[in-house]
Amino acid sequence: MMRVISLGAGVQSTTMALMAAHGEIGPMPDAAIFADTGSEPAPVYEHLRWLMSPNVLPFPVHTTRKPEALHTALFAGTNGGGKRRYAAIPAFLDRGNGEDGLGRRQCTKEYKIEPLLKKQRELLGFAPRKRIPAASMEVWIGISTDEAVRMKPARNAWQVNRWPLIEKRMSRWDCLQWLRRNGYPEPPKSACTFCPYRSDHQWRDLRNRDPAGWQQAVEVDHAIRSPESGYSRHLRLKPYLHRSMKPLDQVDFSTSEERGQPDLFNNDCEGMCGL
Ligand code: SF4
Repeated sequence: MMRVISLGAGVQSTTMALMAAHGEIGPMPDAAIFADTGSEPAPVYEHLRWLMSPNVLPFPVHTTRKPEALHTALFAGTNGGGKRRYAAIPAFLDRGNGEDGLGRRQCTKEYKIEPLLKKQRELLGFAPRKRIPAASMEVWIGISTDEAVRMKPARNAWQVNRWPLIEKRMSRWDCLQWLRRNGYPEPPKSACTFCPYRSDHQWRDLRNRDPAGWQQAVEVDHAIRSPESGYSRHLRLKPYLHRSMKPLDQVDFSTSEERGQPDLFNNDCEGMCGL
């Protein structure tokens, strides 16, 4: 059986990979795989480069991605005469009657789950659609006890999902403590720059620490409300990245607004987004 880590490059999956490197979780994985949407903030790519550098992990880290970054596909789909399809992101939708809701999410499946599956098949040496024997691959997923609701069985008979942080009864806080104890830096928030599953604290962090990423998020926020966007053309709804349903660059990110605000990554995003 081959063992791979689904590496989201966030706190949990980074801790899991480093604990394996320290021999605290075993057996040693054969590889880690990072599914790259092409739209992560710069600090995430820096963190990934560090994880991939010599003497950090004793197993290879593979990256996999679609030819076009998610933000590029969003811009093309919203500006190109409205003809091109794009994977919907879970935007907040203003229904215009005082109601709102979260839009459907195709991005996780198309930019995270499918590329991961493709890479896993490739590592096992099986062409697309070739039958893979049952339980050929153990997939380690970095879900901690505070996110246990996100645990799901594997999609295919040839995969067996495993949650080493749950086995160790570790929460996200425990992961941060482990990283600190072992002298590792805290990993940055791992999610597309424009992911609507962000708390105000995380939006503010993006704005302050990654101006280029923030600019990209602001541009995506405007683009998805263009008259050519799928939301406007088919659904006649106005999508926003921020839950207040204001343009992102007009939101007041003062600390008081975020009181009691949940981190929307809890429970809402499956696949490897945010882990
Ligand atoms: S991080 Fe957010 S926008 Fe990016 S793929 Fe995941 S759910 Fe979609």
